[in-house]
Amino acid sequence: MTPTLSHLIADLADGRIEVVDLTIPLGIETQVIALPPIFAPSPGVSMQVISQYDEMGPGWYWNTITMGEHTGTHFDAPVHWVTGKDLPHNATDTIPPGRFVGPGCVIDVARESATDPDFLLTPEHIQAWEGVNGLIPRGAWVLLRTDWSTRSGADFLNADATGPHTPGFHQRASEFLVRERDILGVGVETIGTDAGQAGGFPVPFPNHTIMHGAGKFGLASLCNLDRLPATGSVIIAAPLKLVRGSGSPLRVLALVAR
Ligand code: MN
Repeated sequence: MTPTLSHLIADLADGRIEVVDLTIPLGIETQVIALPPIFAPSPGVSMQVISQYDEMGPGWYWNTITMGEHTGTHFDAPVHWVTGKDLPHNATDTIPPGRFVGPGCVIDVARESATDPDFLLTPEHIQAWEGVNGLIPRGAWVLLRTDWSTRSGADFLNADATGPHTPGFHQRASEFLVRERDILGVGVETIGTDAGQAGGFPVPFPNHTIMHGAGKFGLASLCNLDRLPATGSVIIAAPLKLVRGSGSPLRVLALVAR
């Protein structure tokens, strides 16, 4: 074994590296995105017991689960969006596995999002962050901390007569990240990687359009971003190997030095 991996195992065992779970619970209570009624909705989670130490299976317990691919803490593959549909290696089963692991860059806009639920990150915000923390490195996961994961019930989708109001990325920020930096993708605490009002933007759903058109990924409904440093974590986000999958629920883990 290399010294690097030996140190990693020792540091994990001794608690010098902590594994932080960035995943929300996945169950029948998990909220799903609300689309305008002209579009097909994604179903929520259903679970049916196959057997539970009973006559259907006396020694074992297991369930059948049903849900949309984009439910709870989940991964968006480039093929999810029409702009990424013809890219190579664009689905959950064909993305090279090395692209599921990378350094975490946490941009904290929790304060801005608390006062303005429609807050949008701009390139100027990113460059101000880089002025303190250094350039976003190659292969990074850029994680937008909004503390939105602390909300529950109707406050999570935060919808009114004009639709959902949740923070996200300005079109120029998504363009900056794919053109001026070389990232794996972005992660958010909200139900999707676009802002709540993004369906009505000049380019509708600009983050999906731009990220996936550039072969980048998305992570939605993350939590515990407040437990990560701005830089220095390692993010592991590997979706299910669904054949031609557009995404999947997944367990997102962060390795953090203590
Ligand atoms: Mn999604």
